[in-house]
Amino acid sequence: MSSVTVRVPAKVNVQLSVGPLREDGYHDLVNVFHAVSIFDEVVAKESESITVSVSGKWSDQVPVDDTNLAIRAARALAKHAGRTYGADLVIQKDIPVAGGMAGGSADAAGALVACNELWGLGLPFEDLMEIAGDLGSDVPFSLLGGTAVGTGRGERLSELPTGGTFHWVFAPANGGLSTASVYAECDRLRDASGAQVPWPQLDDTLMEALGTGDAYSLGAHLSNDLQAAALNLRPELAPTLDAGRQHGALGAIVSGSGPTCAFLAIDATHARDLALSLTTTGAAHTAVAAHGPVHGATLV
Ligand code: ATP
Repeated sequence: MSSVTVRVPAKVNVQLSVGPLREDGYHDLVNVFHAVSIFDEVVAKESESITVSVSGKWSDQVPVDDTNLAIRAARALAKHAGRTYGADLVIQKDIPVAGGMAGGSADAAGALVACNELWGLGLPFEDLMEIAGDLGSDVPFSLLGGTAVGTGRGERLSELPTGGTFHWVFAPANGGLSTASVYAECDRLRDASGAQVPWPQLDDTLMEALGTGDAYSLGAHLSNDLQAAALNLRPELAPTLDAGRQHGALGAIVSGSGPTCAFLAIDATHARDLALSLTTTGAAHTAVAAHGPVHGATLV
């Protein structure tokens, strides 16, 4: 096989509850991931060494050196297999970079699936999940897709059945936000308020909304403990979220650590109308309709 193509989705967190800061610098999370139909494509081609190139709208913001998560994933896979392998990784980027939609994790997951196939390793999914967990807390979910609850640092995953398709609009912002800086701002705000930080708990009503496919209830119960921090760092996001609500979004939330704004729509037609309203009124400079849940990293 000389070339393998994998398609891998972005995620939005429909619940992101952040526990108190741990001694190791991490937070315990209850993180409900939902994979949506904005995809990066990772092509792995036969080569002597492991290299990466990136094209697409966000490509200028992605490093092509050894810090690229797809390269790190391919190296980790080769190490796991105990041999030296090469691959030219070609990423077509549609997922916003540093947007809170796990784009780097998606590329890492895509590289794992693509190189496993290209190199004929035939490693089972469980092995790929283990390597993914070492690469970053969002990478296992990018492999899995669908809707799932992550606990611990987000890396212990349980799949959640959902009762239908949900329709979304995503408004990527100009420029990204670093996940670490958003967590630091969240800790700073909590220190300043002095309030006791509760232990993160799964929202039962949100679970029920996902299970029954009730978009109205899901919209009313979206939650993100990082949102206040993201809005503090990027105050211009608040009017974008308000505009979505005014145009009938069932829920409006910052996606993960932001700055992408996510809006839950009633159906596919409403999602298209909402995306158009957000851009024509200038509330967002770009807005994309998408649906979820969708499969994780998939060979095409
Ligand atoms: P998350 O939602 O998982 O917190 P994010 O979507 O906010 O992540 P990413 O798009 O994953 O952020 O990018 C985070 C940083 O990782 C970027 O600033 C970029 O420099 C770096 N990076 C490394 N490899 C990649 C990649 N393949 N695609 C995107 N960013 C990458």
